[in-house]
Amino acid sequence: MSKQPPTDVTREQAEEAVRTLLRWAGEDPSREGLLDTPKRVVKAYGDWFSGYLSDPGEYLRRTFKEVAGYDEMVVLRDIEFESHCEHHMAPIIGRAHVGYLPTNRVVGISKLARVVDGFARRFQVQEKLTAEIAQCIQENLHPAGVAVVIDASHECMSTRGVHKRGVSMVTSQMLGSFRDDARTRMEFLQFIGIGRGVR
Ligand SMILES: [Zn+2]
Repeated sequence: MSKQPPTDVTREQAEEAVRTLLRWAGEDPSREGLLDTPKRVVKAYGDWFSGYLSDPGEYLRRTFKEVAGYDEMVVLRDIEFESHCEHHMAPIIGRAHVGYLPTNRVVGISKLARVVDGFARRFQVQEKLTAEIAQCIQENLHPAGVAVVIDASHECMSTRGVHKRGVSMVTSQMLGSFRDDARTRMEFLQFIGIGRGVR
């Protein structure tokens, strides 16, 4: 990526930090196979953490108002995302399901996926990621309600620590009518498969 992240750390300093971690792990960073590793890692960071360069709310400011009176729930399910936990800098891999109840504004569905990515491509905790996505949609679209459910596995749990694979964590944030009205909430959960017990 060409855009510079909002930081005063130079690329050289970042690459040097990678060399330090390699030495800490017991490696020799001057070994041939590792020579380009710092450069690659820094480049990968540009991708994994590109969310710091984005303003996810921006994606929602272009809305489509012509919906011919459509005032039912809009749900985008199974939005795959990759994030990193802020405690171990380890990957969080999961899916987000996003729903909202439009009042008079709807957005192109790809925009909801971009909002998810904008927050996921940062250091995160899953609860915060869930809440940030919901808040962003609420504040920018002003719908009657927003629902976000995230189902993700945390590599800091599967590859280290307790070493438990196949465990996923589910978090949800319900705002407005999804929080206040059990039927709306149930309809959303059925749409995304949780109410039926399948995914
Ligand atoms: Zn972690």
